[in-house]
Amino acid sequence: MTATPSPLEEPSEAQTAASPLTRLGEARWILIAAVFIAVVAILFYQVPIWAAALGVALLAGSAAFVPRRAAARRVQLGTQRERRRMWPGTGMKVTVDALPTPCFVADGRGITRYVNTSAQAAYEGVKPGDPLSFSLRAPSLLEAFDRVCATARTERISWIEKVPTETWYEAHIAPIYMPGSSGQETGTHRPDFILVVIQDLTENRRLERMRTDFVANASHELRTPLASLTGFIETIQGPARNDPEAQDRFLSIMLDQAGRMRRLIDDILSLSRIELKAHVRPANVVDLSEIVRHTADALSPLAAEMSVEIRMQMPEEPVRLNGDRDELIQVTENLIENALKYGSEGKFVDVTLNACDDLPEGRSWMLEVRDYGNGIPKEHLPRLTERFYRVDAESSRAMKGTGLGLAIVKHILTRHRGRLEIDSEAGHGASFRVTLPVLENTEDILEKI
Ligand code: ADP
Repeated sequence: MTATPSPLEEPSEAQTAASPLTRLGEARWILIAAVFIAVVAILFYQVPIWAAALGVALLAGSAAFVPRRAAARRVQLGTQRERRRMWPGTGMKVTVDALPTPCFVADGRGITRYVNTSAQAAYEGVKPGDPLSFSLRAPSLLEAFDRVCATARTERISWIEKVPTETWYEAHIAPIYMPGSSGQETGTHRPDFILVVIQDLTENRRLERMRTDFVANASHELRTPLASLTGFIETIQGPARNDPEAQDRFLSIMLDQAGRMRRLIDDILSLSRIELKAHVRPANVVDLSEIVRHTADALSPLAAEMSVEIRMQMPEEPVRLNGDRDELIQVTENLIENALKYGSEGKFVDVTLNACDDLPEGRSWMLEVRDYGNGIPKEHLPRLTERFYRVDAESSRAMKGTGLGLAIVKHILTRHRGRLEIDSEAGHGASFRVTLPVLENTEDILEKI
């Protein structure tokens, strides 16, 4: 695509008015007929030569100098048609503006003739009149564009851009013929315009990859205890058939492995249930401080087992907000349980609940679960809420972890319009802060309680 822009100007009067010589040429048959009639009149009807010559001269003069509307109109129409062929009409502009994805309308030489609002927002500096390649640089896209110009056949192509971040794109390139266009008339197939619609597929691809990774990870996590169960069953049926002591030992390991599988399946189901409700805002009003106290009580046997003290700092009055009680119990349980399991060296876990007025999202409640254990190296923090991501897989398994706890927390908080922030440094404990919006309408509280 190397052509340079040459937009057509509105035709001037000088352009629409033909020269006298041209007009004489156009009226030649009338003039020939007039001369013939004059000769006949002179020869057979005794008309004086000067009168016949005067008649012919007057006719020639009017043909040469009196402007003829039809001819000017023809020139104007021709130019207008040519302009319509080069610049998209209002109908086309309004239509592409209504599309949510970036759209470019270019002519058959690769000159941008229109860009919709979405393309203007996505591609800085793009403007009609510039070659399309100024804004769209992907070689495969430009090659496909040239093919569409040459063959007038629609193409769909996709490509990846690596810089600044990996982004997947798909473009739909279609030829457009204007009604009665020269391309169709002459059968050359050269389209009047080419529509290029670009779609960013990065989010779709990311979700696709997440889904396949999730299935692969879940199968891997289930296969390990399953293999162990199968192995022990074979041993009990074979070499340990008559060894009750070994059988007892193996059965207790098998129970552990079955428990691991059950926990994993429970967490997977819980994650998919939360995902199903992701767009439904919880409508109930719950008391967050009661939920935190309830969870701490439920986890006191684990705290005693780990020799950790849970220190609570809660407001006296109820902390009411819109929420799903079971899901918020799951959030507090996962965070306090993690602090007890992974931060037991610190001997204390602090759980505090405070009102915050200075957050960007407005008035919120902040729940902080802080431990003083070994902490988490900084490089792991951004990935902690990914499914099956663990800092140390062995210690997680030893603690009966599934690697899904924080992913569940994140999903529940998203549904509650809340947020999770994690702060930690290796050797300095970890702090997990949850923010949840305050109850929106106080009249609602009275109705719902
Ligand atoms: P798991 O079921 O393995 O506990 P989570 O999603 O709850 O999975 O946590 C992911 C990982 O984050 C854990 O495996 C652990 O390595 C790390 N982690 C979570 N909480 C803490 C904490 N309080 N201190 C240190 N590491 C933690």
